[in-house]
Amino acid sequence: MDHFTYRHRVLHCEEVSVADLAERFGTPLYVYSRATLLHHLRQLQEAFAAVRPLICYSIKSNSNLHIVRLMVEHGTGCDVTSGGELYRALKAGCPAEKIVFAGVGKTDAEIRTALDRDVALFNVESEGELLAIADLARAAGRVARVALRVNPDLPPKTHVKTDTSVKGVKFGLDIETVVEFAQRLVGHPHVQVVGLHMHLGSPILSVEPYRQGIEKGLILIDKLRAQGHRIDVWNMGGGFGIHYRKQEALPASAFAAVIVPGIQASGCRLILEPGRFIVGNAGILVSRVIYTKDSGGKHFVIQDAAMTDLVRPTLYDSFHRIWPVAPPADVPAPPSDYEADLPGTIRSDVVGPVCESGDFLAKDRALPPVVRGDLLATFSAGAYGMAMASNYNGRPRAAEVLVAGRDAILIRRRETFEDLVRPEVEV
Ligand SMILES: *Cc1c(COP(=O)(O)O)cnc(C)c1O
Repeated sequence: MDHFTYRHRVLHCEEVSVADLAERFGTPLYVYSRATLLHHLRQLQEAFAAVRPLICYSIKSNSNLHIVRLMVEHGTGCDVTSGGELYRALKAGCPAEKIVFAGVGKTDAEIRTALDRDVALFNVESEGELLAIADLARAAGRVARVALRVNPDLPPKTHVKTDTSVKGVKFGLDIETVVEFAQRLVGHPHVQVVGLHMHLGSPILSVEPYRQGIEKGLILIDKLRAQGHRIDVWNMGGGFGIHYRKQEALPASAFAAVIVPGIQASGCRLILEPGRFIVGNAGILVSRVIYTKDSGGKHFVIQDAAMTDLVRPTLYDSFHRIWPVAPPADVPAPPSDYEADLPGTIRSDVVGPVCESGDFLAKDRALPPVVRGDLLATFSAGAYGMAMASNYNGRPRAAEVLVAGRDAILIRRRETFEDLVRPEVEV
């Protein structure tokens, strides 16, 4: 469920007209719903309540400080993947004991800062990283708590660029050799192996990978404990899918039904690292049509949002629902099934102004006819949207607005041309 609804044929975010927001803040514009963010977080908190998990919001999905702070104020920790995200987590007020640090290429500087701040957990992905953490912890006189990130070698489950638990990806330690690896850490004075980490990929639309991951993890935990490691944390990562196309995603309770019994059997504390599930459907990207044109047998809608604002279609061939903010009377609501040809719509390629053929938000999409000046909403854009935005083609990044009831606050101003050149040394 989300709080983006059509009322009197105008899209609203909670109580606020999206058309009004576009007037006030310009386009392209990210609009987030506070009630939706909290609704999704609460669904997770309730579904997993039996094991009292530590939910670490995955900052990389949407790193705006206001959103991170909102999460932290509602009880979450943070999952960070870099020194920059660690900085954001702390700046948003997240206590270090609720921060978990993931990432396949942590630098010495990042590790030093994380040790200095005493983060809850390092998710370790290689032998080299472990040696670095051990050295730096010794030098700092600290003991690092680590979870071994295991690649459980499961069948493919999502887009090849976002699957992290098949053999041959860069993530994690191989499940066949992790026990041997762990043997060398028994009794280490500066590294405590306290847990297991499995982030399987994203978005995942079935419980099966989690079931398989749990099965393999339980066996592994027994082996690690037999070696003398105190394994009391099981970090299942994130990856829960959302509705992009229709109602394709599973509720949190479905994942909980598979994960909770496994966690109870293990006796571990559960950590989750959800990003997309919380923020994905809580945000839309609003854009304005600049031109339309027919060429090469196609109808193009050229609007002012681009791959620089939302790269997911370009990068992952992702599907995002797109519909006018104020649709015509004969096709008032977005369809529940996008595969069908809808009366009153035109097959359109929705593209941006960037000089790349790969710059598109949708291809061959049934859309009501739109004209110059019309507003479009691209849905389910809250996760990996603004977080992956760039300045390519000299494009200032979009503004972001957070709506709560009748109120809308600017949480990131639109970048200016000045912003674009500021870090460059004066010519
Ligand atoms: C990206 C990532 C997540 C979050 O994934 P979502 O699909 O947004 O829930 C969690 N953990 C790790 C280690 C990640 O890399």
